Amino acid sequence: MRIGLAVNQLHHANRDAALYRWLRVCADGIRELQMELHVVGRTYDAMLGEGMLQGYPPLKRYPYGRHGGLMKLVAEVVGLGETRTLDGAIYLIDPVDPSSDYPEAAALKRQCVIHHKPFVSTVAGAIDFIECQRMHAGLEPLPAADRLFAFERQTVALIAHDALKQEMFDFAGAHFDLLSRFATRVATGTTGQGLNELAWSRGWPKDKEWVVRYNSGPLGGDAQIADRILDQRCQRVIFFEDPHVARQHEADIRLLERAVTTVTDEAMCMTTPIVAQRWIEAVKKREAF
Ligand code: PGA
Repeated sequence: MRIGLAVNQLHHANRDAALYRWLRVCADGIRELQMELHVVGRTYDAMLGEGMLQGYPPLKRYPYGRHGGLMKLVAEVVGLGETRTLDGAIYLIDPVDPSSDYPEAAALKRQCVIHHKPFVSTVAGAIDFIECQRMHAGLEPLPAADRLFAFERQTVALIAHDALKQEMFDFAGAHFDLLSRFATRVATGTTGQGLNELAWSRGWPKDKEWVVRYNSGPLGGDAQIADRILDQRCQRVIFFEDPHVARQHEADIRLLERAVTTVTDEAMCMTTPIVAQRWIEAVKKREAF
């Protein structure tokens, strides 16, 4: 597996920065998996400066951001032949760093969504991602990741753009029991309506909502859910995005994604059905251990 890696400046600014919080938990897992990392220059220098993943051959240095390092990762998410095709990207975002808003940052996420590859933007998401890869490789669960899998204490947000709503309903139907274990489910208005109807058809008590419904996306539902995320009252966002249409509420969608990165140790977002499906399979393997 080959993953692109970049982090905004704040996230490698000191010993306790996000990059190191992630690597302290996951560097051994990266080695076990022999995961190839394509790392943008400053992030690479910072990692080695802290003595992390030193002497690890599958670590490749890319140019600094200002010399196009992040742009090259975008092209590799799209695919450039066997040795230069990434399976996903980890970009630890500081939402108030202007570079997190550059076109290449948006393109990195967008191409991950288009090509059904994981785009991981937070420390919690990056720990979860490595742990899920470890499960797929048949390795033992890491106790340091346990808290991320304690769904009974978490809230999950379920959101789908129109072209992907049916996929969301199919996903929720197929994994109804697992999703029902979350303390709370929340959704944007129309997605939520469909999910509640699905739950009632599955025997969920008629006088109870399966998901708490917020406004429809274009009327501000993403912003309302973002507020919950900022208050650490929602830890996982499963957002089936449609990258192929112009979205009238693009600003709200970005706001939601940036809210997730504001609480980087707590929250995470998954953006395509295939990525969410891989996560579910990893959860099942982890729980079967
Ligand atoms: P909806 O909102 O669930 O109300 O359709 C989702 C969106 O379009 O952002």
